[in-house]
Amino acid sequence: MPPPTTIFERQSRLAQELGAINLGQGFPDMPEIGHGPRALLAAAARALTERSSQYPPMRGLPALRSAIADYYAREQALTLTPEEVVVTSGATEALAAALLALVRPGDEVVLVQPLYDAYLPLVERAGGVARLIDLTPPDWTLPLDALEAAMSNRTRVLLLNTPNNPTGSRIDAATWTSIATLCVRHDVTLICDEVWEAMIFGGTHVSPLSIPDLRDRTVKIGSAGKIFSLTGWKVGWACAAPPLADAIAATHQFLTFTTAPALQWAVAEGLALPADWHDAHRDPYRHARAFLVERLVAAGYAVLPGAATWFVIIDLAASGIALDDETFAHRLLVEAGVATIPVSAFYATAPQTGYVRLCFAKDEATLASAADKLAEFRRALT
Ligand code: PMP
Ligand code: GLN
Repeated sequence: MPPPTTIFERQSRLAQELGAINLGQGFPDMPEIGHGPRALLAAAARALTERSSQYPPMRGLPALRSAIADYYAREQALTLTPEEVVVTSGATEALAAALLALVRPGDEVVLVQPLYDAYLPLVERAGGVARLIDLTPPDWTLPLDALEAAMSNRTRVLLLNTPNNPTGSRIDAATWTSIATLCVRHDVTLICDEVWEAMIFGGTHVSPLSIPDLRDRTVKIGSAGKIFSLTGWKVGWACAAPPLADAIAATHQFLTFTTAPALQWAVAEGLALPADWHDAHRDPYRHARAFLVERLVAAGYAVLPGAATWFVIIDLAASGIALDDETFAHRLLVEAGVATIPVSAFYATAPQTGYVRLCFAKDEATLASAADKLAEFRRALT
């Protein structure tokens, strides 16, 4: 049986049918962002008319692979060579290529719930056997004892996501050091989904590539969709030591082979923009987040502290609401006209059912209207 249509697609479709405000699927709809940053749109338009639109190299344009290595050197003090970078059609393809390259039928893959919807189907398609552990709410920390219990010599891959979608929680340097000990002990490869690395509103991102014992056993996955607010471009990449990068490239060549060259040129230009530009690009998100959180709190909602990604999480019980997340999300959409994502959708088993994810990457008028509807809905419930 094919997997069901994703929760993101279902909520977006229903929101459109009902004319509801869509705080569900994660995409920006803000005046400051428009169709995307002007510098990148102009670069893509220029590349379309001035450069070849024929197949670029299978591993990505050399200019983009260098730009990715330089960007991570500047932003995260990582030392990567262009040979360690494989450009893919979105982070999703990088995840698929990495899992298909590394997992053999029967290998165990340790995954953490809440988990992004593509992970489990891809692990299963590679023939992997999933071992699931859970982050611990409300701060969604990674329980190292559960991780240690789940990992063994049968584990081939550990798949982690930091900053985490949906919770906005992050893995810090001390936790990485403990994870490294486990990966070395069991000779495990780490796949780390870091697509939200540039969307952090306080604190810094720690990539496992910066941890010496993880440097040569980690596949770091990134996405221009999130760094530049261009979710539809689907330009992503995997960064890893040469033997891992070679294995991923070998799989990538029979998935998509390559990615639209004009978009690759534009992303290369974008990554070379100065740190100030990248900071300024975060500003409208910072403001939108603060704006929505303030309105939600004023309306009696308990908002969890995670300060990364385009999402905030509300805690239903702490907000005085005695509904499970699916019922709340469905009724909020149908009765009040606001689409959200129930966090239980990010679980394969034993879901947390008391949390709902809201995307704040919208203009102020939309957020104000959504917050009014949420306030009214909560008043009616409590
Ligand atoms: N991983 C995570 C955690 C995500 O949130 C997303 C998209 N929101 C992706 C991967 C997919 O990224 P892309 O669109 O570049 O394939
Ligand atoms: N990653 C986006 C989110 O979390 C959704 C991507 C998709 O719709 N496949 O909302």
